[in-house]
Amino acid sequence: MIISIKKEKALNVKKSTHNAKKWCLVHIGNDITYGLAFVAAELLKHKHKIMWLDGDDKIDELNKKIKDFSPDYVCFGPLSTEFKRSLELVDSFKKTLHSLKSVFGGKHVLAIPDEIKKNENIDYLVWGPVYETIDKIINSPPKTYIKGSPTFPHNMQPALKEYFEQVPRMGKRERKYIMSHFGCVYNCSFCCTSLTRQSYGPKAYTEYWLARRPIKNMIDEAKLFLKFYTKEVSFEDDDVLYDTHEGAEGTRWLKKFTELWKKEINLPMFANVTPQTVVNASNEALVALADLVETVQMGVQTTQGDSSRLFNRHFQDEAQVIEACKILTEHGIKVKLEVIVGLPNIDGLVPDPVTDSVRTIQMCQELRTLLFLRAQLVGHRDGIWISGLLALICKQQNWQPWSCEGNSGTCPG
Ligand code: SF4
Repeated sequence: MIISIKKEKALNVKKSTHNAKKWCLVHIGNDITYGLAFVAAELLKHKHKIMWLDGDDKIDELNKKIKDFSPDYVCFGPLSTEFKRSLELVDSFKKTLHSLKSVFGGKHVLAIPDEIKKNENIDYLVWGPVYETIDKIINSPPKTYIKGSPTFPHNMQPALKEYFEQVPRMGKRERKYIMSHFGCVYNCSFCCTSLTRQSYGPKAYTEYWLARRPIKNMIDEAKLFLKFYTKEVSFEDDDVLYDTHEGAEGTRWLKKFTELWKKEINLPMFANVTPQTVVNASNEALVALADLVETVQMGVQTTQGDSSRLFNRHFQDEAQVIEACKILTEHGIKVKLEVIVGLPNIDGLVPDPVTDSVRTIQMCQELRTLLFLRAQLVGHRDGIWISGLLALICKQQNWQPWSCEGNSGTCPG
């Protein structure tokens, strides 16, 4: 659905037709719950009351807070790895407060809504953005599936102050997050980005998800980081060099952003890039990036021809990764490569996962980059198999793994 700017503005000032409700937002895990901070902002904008909980606290303490605050709704936006804990919590909270309704949104819901709907303790599923969902939740019976409407990035400002204050370990987290837009130009086979693009259509996706936020909004957001303990800010766009090829608008944006960031915030930054945008980026954009960050993480996943096809990243090969590393290094930017090993042999594309993994890691060694090695996401479901694969690779290469227990391992490339 595409809304005209005029109509969209009208929607944003539309008054809620109900009394204020109480909402509890639950943080889980060690990553910033950035998505729920936008939910918090939307709730506050409509004059609701909110309370944040750290879902990793002891369940008795959490239940006491639920009892004291007595919320109408409890909201979760879990990643897949946090879903189990969300279910434990919602089960316990509902026993403490029988009138409580649960609302689930976020990436895990986006990926497998039909599966999640089956859970009896989940009352509302919100698919997509939070915008225009609050009144629908209040006015709909439980077991309603609600699809959010997109809004322009200039309307999207997270409410982080309450989050940082009420979940202090996140307020004190050394690395905070910031994003300039909320989409991605790629279509990796293991990622739910494609679902959003398909559902809202490519035109709306470009207009709403790929448009950048006003720089002032980002600077205002980051001023809060200066009031909390922050040593570094992660520029969490999937690709900070998106749209920075010669003559594209992104170069001007990145230069302006860098200038204002240095002037107003001046916290060290870390950003994500991809080989394809690095090799196509204008020199001006690379110079601005070098001024902004010390290190980038380059999402490579795999470099071999067939396994790249498995990920739907066939446009990227080893030569492009090597070229991208060379360009970044020449600009004084340190590179951390993110690769995935232990691929499943789907459609016969990875008949020899050990050789595929070793070759990918050897390339990282040859490039002398930092290395983040992932084996948990798309690997074989059997953790023992993954563990065995990592152990085998480390043994073959005489590497000392940091962790090789079927979860993730960082080897000194
Ligand atoms: S680059 Fe990242 S966000 Fe984009 S489609 Fe691939 S995995 Fe998803």
